Amino acid sequence: MKKSIFRYVLAASVSITVVSFLLMVFVAYGYLSDILRDHLREELDLAARGVEMSGGEYLRGFTDKSLRFTWVDAGGTVIFDSKAGAQGMENHLSREEISEALESGSGESVRYSDTLSELRVYSALRLSDGTVLRISGSRKTLTYLMLGFLLPMLLIVAFAFLMSFLLASRIAKRLVRPINDIDPDKPTKYIGKREYSEIEPLLKRMEAQRLQIKADSAELEKTSLIRQEFTANVSHELKTPLHAIAGYAELIESGLASEEDIRPFAGKIRAEAGRMTKLVSDIIELSKLDSGAAGTQREHVDLYRIAENAVDSLEYTASEAGITIKLSGVSAVIEGIPRVLYSIIYNLCDNAVKYNKFGGSVSVNVADLGESAVVSVRDTGIGIPKADIDRIFERFYRVDKSHSGDVGGTGLGLSIVKHGALIHKASVNVESIEGIGSEFTVTFPK
Ligand code: ADP
Repeated sequence: MKKSIFRYVLAASVSITVVSFLLMVFVAYGYLSDILRDHLREELDLAARGVEMSGGEYLRGFTDKSLRFTWVDAGGTVIFDSKAGAQGMENHLSREEISEALESGSGESVRYSDTLSELRVYSALRLSDGTVLRISGSRKTLTYLMLGFLLPMLLIVAFAFLMSFLLASRIAKRLVRPINDIDPDKPTKYIGKREYSEIEPLLKRMEAQRLQIKADSAELEKTSLIRQEFTANVSHELKTPLHAIAGYAELIESGLASEEDIRPFAGKIRAEAGRMTKLVSDIIELSKLDSGAAGTQREHVDLYRIAENAVDSLEYTASEAGITIKLSGVSAVIEGIPRVLYSIIYNLCDNAVKYNKFGGSVSVNVADLGESAVVSVRDTGIGIPKADIDRIFERFYRVDKSHSGDVGGTGLGLSIVKHGALIHKASVNVESIEGIGSEFTVTFPK
């Protein structure tokens, strides 16, 4: 950036200098040639007066070597010439300045002189007796004058180049320095300062990005903390049934368990193994939701059909526990992932059965509200204490660990519900009264 600023500024000032130099040369050239012409005319006027008074004698006495006088009669014959012999010179009537002077009284021209082999300026005047006096000066004089003028001008131009170079490098440094001085951690501290006013939008963007990065890294930290916690929880949750299994197996192996204990112990081992299987499959389900489920192809799914399947598969467990489970409502089609939608509804129904009372009921309803579809699962169960409602969607959170353990809970069901809902941009709402029952409502946008 510094280099390109330097180059631009240098190029601009050098071109301005060059153009002004050329213009000055042009003006000076015109000015000097005007002066020379006026000078020539004055000399001619003087000489004309001399010739009028004392004839050709006056011209013979003239000593200026750079000027040439020619005197011709009205017929163009040369009477006198200060540089060449008048005899033998051709008729001068055809000379532009002479014919002009004969006609109008005075004439001028610039041309190449055959007699003197150089470019000359001519000025002619008609005298009162009808003859014409002509003066000519060398164009070289103008060249000498121009050279005398150009030399100091060139020195000035060289100086201007040097100054441009120094200025360009100073300007480049000056412009870039405040930018390099910016502390990327505190871009706002430069806002309002004079030398930063033009880059305020940049400073504001830097600040916005800095805050974004800060937020992102905080989020990342939080995520990694949650992961660590999750891993620790998983190991802990797996250890509990494993310890139980190992304990019962040991009792049987060592012969400490009596013959009639063996069957119930085996039953306990099977139950614990079942809990482990449920835990592992919930973890797999959750990690599937975590990674990539969002990108899965969506299809038209009827929530009523899904609810029907979930209710069917829980009917047996429910009736075993003395609980009636029934489905009502209408079909409601949304765009979604069938497997995930099933998990959401199944887990809600499963909880409604698990945390219910003998003789209680579970009502599942599917409603189509046009803009949205709503699935609600209401139970007449034990309810959730107010203090816990905000936390039940956390991984491994259980209100009453011992009860949840008894009914085969893993603490992951509602996490799966929350995550699955998130993927479908659905919202989950809970209303619960301890001892009376709970209602979970999931609202899917269409
Ligand atoms: P769990 O596998 O233990 O059921 P969840 O994540 O599904 O785990 O639920 C978390 C906790 O929320 C449960 O342990 C239970 O205490 C409470 N809970 C969930 N659903 C209900 C419900 N319908 N009635 C009462 N308590 C519930």
